[in-house]
Amino acid sequence: MKEPVKPKEEDCCSSGCNPCIFDVYEKQRELYEEYLQSSDTSIQIEENAISQLEYTPFLVVENNNICKEHKLIIFKHKHLGNKKLWWKPGNYFLLYFKSGETQLSRAYTPLKISSAVNNDYDFAIIIKKYENGIVSKYMYNLEKDQETLWRGPYGTYELTSNHFDRILMVAQGTGIAPFISIIEHILNNEYDMTKIILFYCCHSIDNVLFRNQLYSYKSYWNFTYEIYVSFYISECMLKYQEPIQYHRLCSQDFYKLKPFSKKDQCILCGSEEFMNNLKSILSMDVPVENIILF
Ligand SMILES: Cc1cc2nc3c(=O)[nH]c(=O)nc-3n(C[C@H](O)[C@H](O)[C@H](O)COP(=O)(O)OP(=O)(O)OC[C@H]3O[C@@H](n4cnc5c(N)ncnc54)[C@H](O)[C@@H]3O)c2cc1C
Repeated sequence: MKEPVKPKEEDCCSSGCNPCIFDVYEKQRELYEEYLQSSDTSIQIEENAISQLEYTPFLVVENNNICKEHKLIIFKHKHLGNKKLWWKPGNYFLLYFKSGETQLSRAYTPLKISSAVNNDYDFAIIIKKYENGIVSKYMYNLEKDQETLWRGPYGTYELTSNHFDRILMVAQGTGIAPFISIIEHILNNEYDMTKIILFYCCHSIDNVLFRNQLYSYKSYWNFTYEIYVSFYISECMLKYQEPIQYHRLCSQDFYKLKPFSKKDQCILCGSEEFMNNLKSILSMDVPVENIILF
């Protein structure tokens, strides 16, 4: 394990990042001290091609529309060398943004897209455009070969196979992104018997992200899902037995999952209001320590 290098004062963008680069340094320093004192010299932490402590340049490979509100942006490391880029299911990266005096960072969820035509890339991001959003607008307009700066991976979610009987995932919009890597991790492990139930809330069927991918997961015995759309489009074609519900997700939709037990985990990802509403509904049946907000 390499000794972590203390960030310089100017490495902090003072925009209230979570986590702040100095907190990450303190944590890594503690891990490094533990490593030095440990008698187990076999501990090796694989060096990652992205760092939690300093920004790493990645170039835009493609930036394509996937619907009116979302784009898929694909990135490649500028000087990868022989290091590998890795992250754990549910992790996020921080993007650095600077324009004039303004310095900001924003969290985005890295993805590996199994259906990508060009496999020569390191990670992808699904970005939602917010009309008044400073960083999302910048991301939306990124062009091929443009350089971007990233640090990470971060995240506290720990996925342990067979720890829970069921994991209920409830996502809103781009909140599906961290769940995709968690779902794939479970489904790709034939010894993991965890049942996955996904409730995915979208404005309309046109905004459903990963629609084909979710439909293909239906063939796994341990995956079921429902998509809740609040806006009905009459001319939209559905797939055979595609589980679309034309109403907003509400407390009655959870009845069919009862009884809940302490072997159930609920993970929620969406706006703060969305997650807090769901948490108050679910905490009537699920132990509160098993409800995780992303
Ligand atoms: C762990 C984590 C992972 C994330 N992963 C992704 C991802 O993969 N893809 C992605 O597109 N975004 C993701 N986000 C959200 C992202 O970090 C930014 O918040 C988003 O891009 C908006 O930033 P902005 O600078 O454009 O908006 P800002 O300039 O900060 O906000 C401008 C206005 O936009 C609206 N707005 C901003 N963010 C939201 C929101 N989340 N919900 C509703 N309205 C909002 C508000 O009206 C706000 O007033 C993630 C956030 C977290 C915490």
